[in-house]
Amino acid sequence: MTEQTAISDDLAAQFATITGPRHAFSDDESMAPYLVERRNLYKGAARMVLRPGSTDEVSQILKLANNTGTSIIPQGGNTGLVGAQVPFDADRHVVVSLGRMNRIIDVNADANTLVCEAGTILANIQDAADEAGRLFPLSLGAEGTCQIGGNLSTNAGGTGVLAYGNARDMVLGLEVVLANGDILGGLRTLRKDNTGYDLKQLFLGAEGTLGIITAAALKLFARPKSREVAFVGLPDAKSAVTLFHKVMDCEGRNLTGFELMPRIGLDFVLTHAPGSRDPLAERHPWYVLVEISSSDEAELLKDRVENLLGSVIEDGVVSDVALAMSGQQADDFWNLRTSMSEVQKLEGGSIKHDISVPVSDIPAFLARAEKAVETCIPGARPVPFGHLGDGNLHYNVSQPIDADKAVFLSRWGDMNEVVHEIVASFGGSISAEHGIGVMKRDLLPRYKSTIEMELMRTLKKALDPNNILNPGKML
Ligand SMILES: Cc1cc2nc3c(=O)[nH]c(=O)nc-3n(C[C@H](O)[C@H](O)[C@H](O)COP(=O)(O)OP(=O)(O)OC[C@H]3O[C@@H](n4cnc5c(N)ncnc54)[C@H](O)[C@@H]3O)c2cc1C
Repeated sequence: MTEQTAISDDLAAQFATITGPRHAFSDDESMAPYLVERRNLYKGAARMVLRPGSTDEVSQILKLANNTGTSIIPQGGNTGLVGAQVPFDADRHVVVSLGRMNRIIDVNADANTLVCEAGTILANIQDAADEAGRLFPLSLGAEGTCQIGGNLSTNAGGTGVLAYGNARDMVLGLEVVLANGDILGGLRTLRKDNTGYDLKQLFLGAEGTLGIITAAALKLFARPKSREVAFVGLPDAKSAVTLFHKVMDCEGRNLTGFELMPRIGLDFVLTHAPGSRDPLAERHPWYVLVEISSSDEAELLKDRVENLLGSVIEDGVVSDVALAMSGQQADDFWNLRTSMSEVQKLEGGSIKHDISVPVSDIPAFLARAEKAVETCIPGARPVPFGHLGDGNLHYNVSQPIDADKAVFLSRWGDMNEVVHEIVASFGGSISAEHGIGVMKRDLLPRYKSTIEMELMRTLKKALDPNNILNPGKML
């Protein structure tokens, strides 16, 4: 493995020549936005930032980096939540930011495909699909900032997984620049292609450790004609799972959202998010936001959903329901869910977990985790919310009221350990959608088998023998 050395002025100038000096900088002010991440958990440092404008420039950058043992940190919208996009070395790390490579190359409504460069902002892809009368269903809170290259490199989840799968499932082809600068041109738009190993899968969820994605061919879907959104109050988490199966039985793949929220989370939103309103008259221990999308006419879907919700109230599965009466009200219901993460900051320190367990085990997981959290830090307040339909919860724990924030956050590792051990006992995952990065790198060997870890290291060595791509992340 090539020794990675400090980047000389001469080498920095060679990198700058590739992008042109306007798109290469190393002064503190220009680099600042690329060095911090939004949770302020990591403070980055880099020798320089490069903003290539083409696949050829990315290729030249990696060729030079590989020959000189220079560490490259690929960066998209910098919204990642595990520190994977953060550079950590003021002498040796070069950020390669894909933001200038933001062209939508082709939208083909007949083939249901969209081809774009990796730096395209997710919301712009959604808009382009919509203009063509189609849907690109990947959707997450950071969609106005995150880029498709980042989404694919983290195999992002979000709210559409239930019906459409993770980011990985929406990809037909990829163009990737390998560590040695070679360009793997795989921008195919075929739905079926069993000609050997599916190489693109290696780069999906690889967090920039195996290559730089420069363009993607994506699947588009039919735009639903109608949508119903309900805000449901429930007596307990077990009822949420029962409701999930009842809705699934009736609506199948029309179920496009099933998001769990605890009362404490709703209280945080109502306290801190201006203009928010409780859709239900009474307080309930748990809530679920149910979204059903269909190719049926609006009236037909509405009738069906009203009947379904009426029957679950009658059966005693749910306590109360508000069905959105307009698109605006549906958005207001969603806002209660999407603000849930942000408002926790205003309640002091919050220790995060992004876990998944089998859907059927969620009530048992929640019960055991609540007890364990109380034992670990008495008075700590669990705020578990998220994509129940995918078995994925953001098991966040807010500090006890009036506790010292720094002291509470210093117990991050202890709390993670307690929660992750329970997750593991259910055969779950310690990172359902946010990835590994640096945050969970040292935990990974504990929760993956030796053979899995060895195979991952073998792949890394084969594709990036000089360890120039995002070193120290994931592995
Ligand atoms: C408010 C908010 C809500 C969020 N909600 C969700 C959610 O619901 N579901 C979810 O899964 N995530 C969520 N996230 C996390 C984050 O938005 C996703 O991980 C997103 O996919 C990251 O995209 P990005 O462009 O910001 O990538 P970055 O943060 O810039 O990078 C993430 C990783 O991808 C690598 N990378 C970036 N671009 C490339 C490329 N072109 N080629 C190779 N590697 C690359 C980086 O090196 C890094 O390892 C949320 C984040 C925020 C701030």
